[in-house]
Amino acid sequence: MSDFRRTKAMFHLPEGVIYLDGNSLGPLPKAACDHVSDMMRNQWGEMLIGGWNKAGWMRLSTDIGDRIGRLIGAAKGSVITGDTLSIKVYQALASALELNPKRKVVLSDNGNFPSDLYMAQGLLHSLGSDYELRIVSPDNITENLTNDVAVLMLTEVDYRTGRRHDMKELTAQAHAKNVITIWDLAHSAGAIDVDLTAAKADFAIGCTYKYLNGGPGSPGFIYVAPKHADSLRPALSGWLGHEAPFAFDLEYRPGAGIERMRVGTPPVIALKSLEAALDIWDMVEMRDIRAKSMELCDLFISEVETRCPNLSLASPRDARNRGSQVSFRFREGFAAMQACIARGVIGDFRAPDIMRFGFTPLYIDEGDVITAAGIIEDVITNNLWDRPAYKIKGKIT
Ligand SMILES: *Cc1c(COP(=O)(O)O)cnc(C)c1O
Repeated sequence: MSDFRRTKAMFHLPEGVIYLDGNSLGPLPKAACDHVSDMMRNQWGEMLIGGWNKAGWMRLSTDIGDRIGRLIGAAKGSVITGDTLSIKVYQALASALELNPKRKVVLSDNGNFPSDLYMAQGLLHSLGSDYELRIVSPDNITENLTNDVAVLMLTEVDYRTGRRHDMKELTAQAHAKNVITIWDLAHSAGAIDVDLTAAKADFAIGCTYKYLNGGPGSPGFIYVAPKHADSLRPALSGWLGHEAPFAFDLEYRPGAGIERMRVGTPPVIALKSLEAALDIWDMVEMRDIRAKSMELCDLFISEVETRCPNLSLASPRDARNRGSQVSFRFREGFAAMQACIARGVIGDFRAPDIMRFGFTPLYIDEGDVITAAGIIEDVITNNLWDRPAYKIKGKIT
């Protein structure tokens, strides 16, 4: 059984803060500072270039990939970290399209995160004008799985509303139409109990700085189903994905399995910070996280709806159809969120009117939910948001 009181004590949270934004940037695991500093002093500092061999820096990408793999139902050796999620989208899509060469359509939905759609647009433009990105409503995926679709590329949990797709069902429907699937787990990894193996997903991608708490700019990851890993062609054929990088051949030959999804030099300092976060993840089971997260989200919904009747729920009411976040619509949502943040409840705002709150059992408990709901009630019922200072938008919301 996962001990969430113990995990909560392993995070640094500023005094007086209830942090409901771990879905954007997870908080600092206390051990990360010493872990990174130890690597810098004793490995980089003392071993210099010898660290690649002596400290196993090159292996980190796959070792950490396997530890993430346990959280998302991926077999050992099927996940590798590196680059950013946007790059991993490009990489997965380019390889997926080549597995279905006669078809030219990529199907996605308008709940997808813009970067995924932008990366697809960029890639398809390079491939030529016979390729098409078809963006439909999240409710209309099934009828749009037509026989010209090569790849279905979806983000499992909607970043604004928390609406969750049925990965297993949609993957089965896609496969019945010979469509390859790519699942973006940005709001799933560490949030819900993903099982890529059971869902028979072909590709998955994700980031590690949200629910996984790897730190700002910690690398993305990619999963390739073992049945494809040795046959696909990597589009970003960097030297470290080569079968023998240090032979310095002039001709590219892909490395074995998931190794071919490496591109260039791994971000070792960022991987060390992520490693400290994964030490906490190693102490918990995803099914416990999911059960607790559903409880916390349900409690938050009922508390906020009772206290603030003029906020309307933007997330699915049934916890099974939701990720690990709850969103409410409020016309003055931006200013209201600023007022909440000024009072120690940190969530975020997504245009045009969504106040978004992420729940992460690793460091949020029932007491935090009740306290946060009380502060939100104060802000909304007493119009505390109605101040010019709360209406100024920074560059990053
Ligand atoms: C957060 C997020 C991204 C961000 O991509 P980066 O390359 O890491 O900046 C992309 N896609 C989705 C679905 C996200 O939620």
